[in-house]
Amino acid sequence: MTSPSTTQADAARERRERIQALGYDYERQPRAALDACNLCGASTFVVLTHRDRYGFAAEAHACSRCGLVFLNPRMTAQAYGDFYNGVYRPLVSAFHGRLIDAQTIQGEQREYAAERAGFLRPFLAGSGRRTLLDIGGSTGVVAHHLGREFNLAGTLIDPAPLEVEQARQLGLETITGLIEEHEFGDRRFDVVIICQTVDHLLDVAGTLRRVRDLLTDDGVLFIDIVDFRAAYLRNWSVEAAVKIDHPYYLTEQTMRAYLASTGFEVLRTDYAADHLHVSYACRPGRPGRQPAGDAAAVAAMLQEIRFVQNAPARSR
Ligand SMILES: [Zn+2]
Repeated sequence: MTSPSTTQADAARERRERIQALGYDYERQPRAALDACNLCGASTFVVLTHRDRYGFAAEAHACSRCGLVFLNPRMTAQAYGDFYNGVYRPLVSAFHGRLIDAQTIQGEQREYAAERAGFLRPFLAGSGRRTLLDIGGSTGVVAHHLGREFNLAGTLIDPAPLEVEQARQLGLETITGLIEEHEFGDRRFDVVIICQTVDHLLDVAGTLRRVRDLLTDDGVLFIDIVDFRAAYLRNWSVEAAVKIDHPYYLTEQTMRAYLASTGFEVLRTDYAADHLHVSYACRPGRPGRQPAGDAAAVAAMLQEIRFVQNAPARSR
């Protein structure tokens, strides 16, 4: 008879083999070290982990002052461009042991779109807002859904060509590229959505400042995070919550600090039904100062991380 632990060990070995079969050499990708925190500018970091969930040698650091968690060093924009153009979905597929691609993700995205439309309805229904920009919009399912429900003309920017092609077929205006690099000129949008994307950005503060400029005066920003604390508590593993696809790991505390410092007022927050994502509906406000950091909150998170790394897993 096979014991549960043998089965688990077999599954982990098979997962490792599937990932190795992709032949992706993370350590040979061009990477750059970060010496200042993207949120508060401090330069003292705590190294939290040395490997990610795939087994790649990626370190996650936390800023000692504000608690922002990020990969360091991390791949350059060019290396991430290559990653999204052919590595990302196969890698995630290998990790989960099932095909995840531009086709298969659409069912999940439709469900996600319906949930977020419900959250945004009070701010968008009958509001007279006309234009929507979806940053990191993938196959366009979410932008298309919101566009139809709230009568918005949708524009989508995403770095993955296969996914952008799907979005184009849905009738959206599409841009293949990174928000950090695309020039919008004097265009403005009434609604900007950043869905399951902020953790993929290379410069969160810079992107949010750009979005603040791209939004009309009474515009609405929707953004959501995979709450890093929820992710490591759920997996009872900090390494399992770290993956090279995510340069950043936001928490409720660091996301709110980003929004306040880049000029957004939070109108409503939503803990998603999956208990993992946290969503924010925001309007433009006055940019605040860079956050000073909350020493007690940072200490509490680091203590919790050490607890998760060293206390036995809960029995399930
Ligand atoms: Zn910081």
